[in-house]
Amino acid sequence: MKRYIGVLLISIMFVNCKETTSAQQQIKIKETQASEIRDIMSLLASDELEGRDTGSEGLEKAALFVEKEFKNSGIKPYFETYRDVFDAKGTETFNVVGYLKGTDEKLANEFIILGAHLDHIGTGKEVDGDTIANGANDNAAGSTAVITLAKQLSALKSNKRSILFVLFGAEEKGLLGSKHLAGILKEKNIDLYTMVNFEMIGVPLNNKSYKAYITGYEKSNMAAKINEYSGSELIGFLPKAKEFQLFQRSDNYPFYKQFNVPCQTISTFDFTNYQYYHHVDDEVSEMNFEFMASLIDACVPSILKISNTATKEIKLN
Ligand SMILES: [Zn+2]
Repeated sequence: MKRYIGVLLISIMFVNCKETTSAQQQIKIKETQASEIRDIMSLLASDELEGRDTGSEGLEKAALFVEKEFKNSGIKPYFETYRDVFDAKGTETFNVVGYLKGTDEKLANEFIILGAHLDHIGTGKEVDGDTIANGANDNAAGSTAVITLAKQLSALKSNKRSILFVLFGAEEKGLLGSKHLAGILKEKNIDLYTMVNFEMIGVPLNNKSYKAYITGYEKSNMAAKINEYSGSELIGFLPKAKEFQLFQRSDNYPFYKQFNVPCQTISTFDFTNYQYYHHVDDEVSEMNFEFMASLIDACVPSILKISNTATKEIKLN
C-alpha cells in the first residue's frame, strides 16, 4: 500500500529591508518520510558497497547511485559530467558535483555549497567476523542529507542564488576532495556566499535543547541566522566540538581557507551518543531515520532563506 505523503506548509517571510515592505510567500515542502531515508541509507551503507573506500568498486557504486538520484530530480552536472576527478595520493578518485541554478538573474551568480563526504575507510578491526566499515553515520548520513536536500530544493525551484550539491571523495584521506574542489572553484573565481557541510547526523544529540550543532560556532553568525530563518532552536553550540577543533576536521575547512567566508559543518555526533566512530559496527541498524528526516526537513526553509535574502546576511565575526 502506498503511504500517504504529508504536505507541510511553511510560511517564509521575505523582507526587503530597503523598502521596509514584506511579502509572505508560502512554500510547499514535501515532508520526507523515514522510509525514504532508510532506503538511501540502506544502499549507501550496505555490505555490497564495502565501506566506500577511495578507489573502490563500492565507492563507484555509491557515486552511480548519487548521479542517478541527481539526474532524476533535475539536478544538473556542474562540470561537463557530475564527476570532479582528482588524484588522492596515487589513486584516481572524484567528487560528485550537482548544480541547481538560481532563479534570479543577478543572485544566480552567487553560490551556496551543500556538502558531505561520500567516502569512508573501507575496512576496520574485525568484530565477530565482520570487517566492513559501513560508515552509516560517517557519512552515509550526511550524504543522505545532501541527496534529500537536492531533491527537496529542486522540486521547489525557489532558490534565487545557485546551489552546488557536493558529495566529496577522499575526505578520510585528509580532506583531499574538498581541498581539490575549493582550489578549482577559487581558480574559476566563483562568488561563494557560504558552505554548509553535513557530518554524522544519524543519531540525535543527548539532552540538548537544540537539534544539531555547528562547528566553528563562534566564527560567524551562521547558527543565529539559521535559527532566525527557521524560527526555532535548530542549531546550537557544542563545547566539545570546539575542544576537538572539529571546524578544521571536515570538508567545510578548505572552503573557509580558500574563500574566507562562513563555511561550517552541521553534526549531531556529540562524543556521548555514538560509540562506533570508525568502527565496523557503524551500521544502518544504529541509525534513527525519523530523526534524520525531521532534521533534513527542518533545514529546508533556512537554506531557502539563505539563498533568497537580498544581501549576504551570514558573515564571519
Ligand atoms: Zn566523517
